[in-house]
Amino acid sequence: MSGLTAYRFSAQEIDKMLWLKDLFEDNGFIVDRFPAVYYDTFENARKEFNHLEETHEDTMNPDLLGVYVYGIDGSGKTATSTEGVVILFSDKIENYSRRSGNVKGDIQYVVLMHELGHWFSHWPCADNTRWIYGFDFYNNRTKEALANIIAYWCLETAGHKKVMSDLTPKCTNDGEFLHMINKNLLTVNGQYVDINNPYGAYYLLLQKDQKEILDKIKVLRAAFYLDDQHMFDFLSGDDELSEILDVDKIEDYIDGAILASPEICARGGLNSIIDLFRENEKYRDVFKGVSTLSQFGLFNEFDS
Ligand SMILES: [Zn+2]
Repeated sequence: MSGLTAYRFSAQEIDKMLWLKDLFEDNGFIVDRFPAVYYDTFENARKEFNHLEETHEDTMNPDLLGVYVYGIDGSGKTATSTEGVVILFSDKIENYSRRSGNVKGDIQYVVLMHELGHWFSHWPCADNTRWIYGFDFYNNRTKEALANIIAYWCLETAGHKKVMSDLTPKCTNDGEFLHMINKNLLTVNGQYVDINNPYGAYYLLLQKDQKEILDKIKVLRAAFYLDDQHMFDFLSGDDELSEILDVDKIEDYIDGAILASPEICARGGLNSIIDLFRENEKYRDVFKGVSTLSQFGLFNEFDS
């Protein structure tokens, strides 16, 4: 067990976590418990999880103040991920509170909901599956947009909203100019949100129904082989995945690292999979990609 200090939830946080549980359960997820949540210094967290790295970025974001740490079983691109824990970094949150003038409790609330957003995207079962494969791939824009939109749904007070907007990256002047010619004016407190930054991408999801987002999480878990851009296009767009993916171009949509994986190469590469799509009418639906892969024996534990 971890030697880290347990986080003590506020009553407001518990109420909102139960609201999130109900929201996910109403949309077909099973939430029978919450992850462990700790409140400790970054250094203590790193003693327990030595792969944690100190990161310095120009703009603040929730993952500089906390983390969702999950495990990986196996190696390579067919490794599976295991349930993680949430750590809120007490020292970083307290420093940021002094620097920004935001109330510590408001920062804790927003960072907690963001990290729980990662856990909700990753772990609670829906249709018998979790985001077991590919949660560790480079899909940061998709994963951070999901964690941030879930945190956004949880905002209650003016203090929460101030923290959320402070932790949302804004465009530099050049970016503002680009936004103006794109007429894609998404602003927070009069500044343009940097929607190309993984932590600003959730702004493209603000108008979406919660049900649509939750249904899309289930699809993304099954379509884990897509690259980040196509995942996010699907998440933020209005099309079914099968409508935006052209089976003849499937190779263009797939995370390049999967194509390079020894498991895929040993079995003749992606062409064998594409042939299977082509040969068999029932595989023309790209949704079936995962079960196709599993029939290749690549993902033995995939329960379809
Ligand atoms: Zn995050």
